[in-house]
Amino acid sequence: MKDNKETPHTEESKRKIGKSIGLNLNKEVANIFEISSRTRMKLLIRLMKDLKLGCSICGWDKAICDIHHIRGRKIENPHDHTNLMIVCPNCHRLIHTGKIKKIIPLSELIGDQWKSYYYAYIEKRKKIRSSEEVKQLKLEKENRRIENFTRLQTSIDLINLSSIDFSKRGWVGEVAKLIGITPQKVSNWMKRNALEIYETQCNKRKIPIRNNCN
Ligand SMILES: [Zn+2]
Ligand SMILES: [Zn+2]
Repeated sequence: MKDNKETPHTEESKRKIGKSIGLNLNKEVANIFEISSRTRMKLLIRLMKDLKLGCSICGWDKAICDIHHIRGRKIENPHDHTNLMIVCPNCHRLIHTGKIKKIIPLSELIGDQWKSYYYAYIEKRKKIRSSEEVKQLKLEKENRRIENFTRLQTSIDLINLSSIDFSKRGWVGEVAKLIGITPQKVSNWMKRNALEIYETQCNKRKIPIRNNCN
């Protein structure tokens, strides 16, 4: 287990943090399902990373695991962490088909540790909002915007300079490969960024000039 440098929270500090961001933490967060699914995901990622948690059954930790309800959701306090279990999608399926019977609830695995992560997360979010980091985040956002813009320009150039024959059926695949998007996105991309080519060349079979004038 990696050493965990998060400050442990007292009841008092939790309330203080909660109050400052408008959360009523007098009513303490009782279970992991009382927080938003987005925050829950982030929390799970942190737990998996810091505590080297993986699937309770097989240890798989390549991506975020599922939360299984051991005795279902129709019991009293279904989200109590004695009723929750972290499992990978694979083992989850096997549990539901009865092929895995082993049970290791969250309470046994990490006890209440997720709570200190949750309060630390709230604290961090609050700090980010009110500090220099805001400027930093804005700067990063702007850099990303410029990067995306440059990438787009490069893609447009690639299309304009390519020797793709847009009148032939394979053009979608070729465009997708050239600029690195999925074929499903190609036609919308072309409408947005290369409308002229799209309207004048794409799927337009070259109509043979017929000489049937008198
Ligand atoms: Zn598993
Ligand atoms: Zn389940």
